[in-house]
Amino acid sequence: MQKPPELVAVVARHPDWRCHRCAGTGALLVMEPQGPTCLQCAGLGHLEELPAGDALLSRRARAASKLSAVIVKWSQTRKRNERVGVLVEPEALAAARASMAADS
Ligand SMILES: [Zn+2]
Repeated sequence: MQKPPELVAVVARHPDWRCHRCAGTGALLVMEPQGPTCLQCAGLGHLEELPAGDALLSRRARAASKLSAVIVKWSQTRKRNERVGVLVEPEALAAARASMAADS
């Protein structure tokens, strides 16, 4: 079975970018064929940002989240996108945090 393509949210490199649907802006954007889209228009506006650093928490939160996206940031020095975190449903993040607390 093939996994659906991973959703990717990009940290905006230019503060004055405009969403091609609503002309809004934000810290994160999703690249669509037509142009950059804000998280609200991309249907990801309700998701919560979880910075990278705790791999186990990220994995649990993503597993519990019906909808999730990877946050990437362009590294000028490495010339490639780097993962800086994930977007997950707030309830999934809360459940993942609770399961981590229960484990320790
Ligand atoms: Zn928009």
